[in-house]
Amino acid sequence: MLVVVLSGPGGAGKGTIARAVVGADKRLALSRSWTTRERRVDDSADAYVFVSWSEFDARRKAGGFLEWNEFLGCYYGTPVPDRADERDLLLEIDVAGGRQVLDQIPGALCLFVDAPDDEELRRRLTGRGDGPEQTDKRLAEAKRERADADKLGYIRVVNGELDLAVAEVQSLIAAARIDT
Ligand code: 5GP
Repeated sequence: MLVVVLSGPGGAGKGTIARAVVGADKRLALSRSWTTRERRVDDSADAYVFVSWSEFDARRKAGGFLEWNEFLGCYYGTPVPDRADERDLLLEIDVAGGRQVLDQIPGALCLFVDAPDDEELRRRLTGRGDGPEQTDKRLAEAKRERADADKLGYIRVVNGELDLAVAEVQSLIAAARIDT
């Protein structure tokens, strides 16, 4: 089973790419994370399994997460994959989670989806309704994550034009399948 990790700053388009790639590939499943954060109005019903802190903690203590992390005061975790499902698995998680996945699955394909440059990232974040202060914080976080991703050997996928970025991710997955 191939594990694909898709990370990248908010606004870079990793969620859109993940949905397009998984939707077009029967051999690929999207992992559904658990989170303690509140459901947002723009979250689809199946975006996450929304749980209380104690439910999350019980699963964590039972070893039920492949990786987990805290982000802005909320917990996020990837359930240990179901071995009965033979499909490859795509995780949409942050770089700290990607590091934990690589510790356990060194053959995981780690992709960092990025905007073409900071100016474009700022434009997309502002377009989502983030204020200037929030945008500055997210840009600083993106810079840190980019540096960590480089150190971990992530492959960078620039999302300038969506169709091209989707095709690039698909060909990287096809190449990784040959190696697994
Ligand atoms: P959001 O709250 O905007 O949906 O997600 C916040 C951050 O948490 C994003 O970077 C997202 O990729 C990351 N994330 C979502 N699910 C998981 C998970 O299961 N594990 C980890 N480590 N990060 C996650």
